[in-house]
Amino acid sequence: MINSRRMTTRAAWLSAILVTTSVVAVPAAQAQAPAEINAALQAAYGKYKTLQAGKNADYIPALAKVDPNLFGIVLVTADGTVYSVGDVTTEVSIQSISKVFTMAQVMGEQGPDVIANTIGVDATGMRFNSIIAIEGVKATAGAGAPEMNPLVNPGAITATSMVKGATSNEVWARIIGIENDMAGRQLTVLQDVYQSESDTNQRNQAIGALMLAYGYIKSNWQQAVDLYTRQCSIGVNAKDLATMAATLAFGGRNPVTGKVVLDAKIVPGVLAVMATAGLYDDSGKWLFRTGLPAKSGVGGGIIAVSPGKFGIAVISPPLDDAGNSVRAQNAIADISKALGGNPLAAKPRS
Ligand code: GLN
Repeated sequence: MINSRRMTTRAAWLSAILVTTSVVAVPAAQAQAPAEINAALQAAYGKYKTLQAGKNADYIPALAKVDPNLFGIVLVTADGTVYSVGDVTTEVSIQSISKVFTMAQVMGEQGPDVIANTIGVDATGMRFNSIIAIEGVKATAGAGAPEMNPLVNPGAITATSMVKGATSNEVWARIIGIENDMAGRQLTVLQDVYQSESDTNQRNQAIGALMLAYGYIKSNWQQAVDLYTRQCSIGVNAKDLATMAATLAFGGRNPVTGKVVLDAKIVPGVLAVMATAGLYDDSGKWLFRTGLPAKSGVGGGIIAVSPGKFGIAVISPPLDDAGNSVRAQNAIADISKALGGNPLAAKPRS
């Protein structure tokens, strides 16, 4: 490139600087030694293992029965190396973390902008199952971009309704398919959670019916709510979640299996929505603290993404008032800080 005849002297000069810089820069993937990563994981695990703050979600009865002491941390790097500490094999229900992948599936099927143009990508500033948030959208309809996003229940149920498929089974195959590919293994639904949530999800049914009434869901809201409930009941362990996070960290290619799961074009949009709304109405606080696009679920999992560096996940069921795992937030914040994971923090040039 530097030798190209058409290149101006100035451009060649700039290009030479860039080449020189990239030679001396440490590639992001090699920024941390394995010992440093293990030490960061161990330190966070030791520090928060006995922290007793928060409480299991209990509005879905099955979630109240999960062991609150369950605590596992997994971090996956560019070469697919899996670092872990604590319980990394026990499954919990993925819950709202599934919303990320259904959103990605819809973007993959209909283009990167489809979610922004239909559901919206703005924070509601309200709880994840707020009905007032839906009424707010209705009140401002036509007055600008919708203030909604696919990571709160109304937007998530709508996103599920947008996944292609002639039958419920066909839609489900696509939903579980993308989750399997992100995790790198065959996942299954935790039937007790699915049953428990199906028996008690009248509020989500109301949300589905309202989203149909206001034109977001085009038809069959019952099917959308059922598939949404099923996707939330998929069982995952901390390694599954960290692999999913790492697939987002490395442009849509699962670094453990090598499979390209998402078109790299849609990944920045997915991460932007996670940064905006991944931890519900505490998303701003979280971004301020860590800079990391992330997503929580009421099953106790949180995934977080340091683009180009690592994907991390923690499972610990007790939640704070906003519905986010207390130990998971603390552990991820500490580990990312120790490893320089904040994508918003650039070192001043010397
Ligand atoms: N299935 C749950 C619900 O709809 C998901 C909520 C969550 O994880 N925040 O209430």
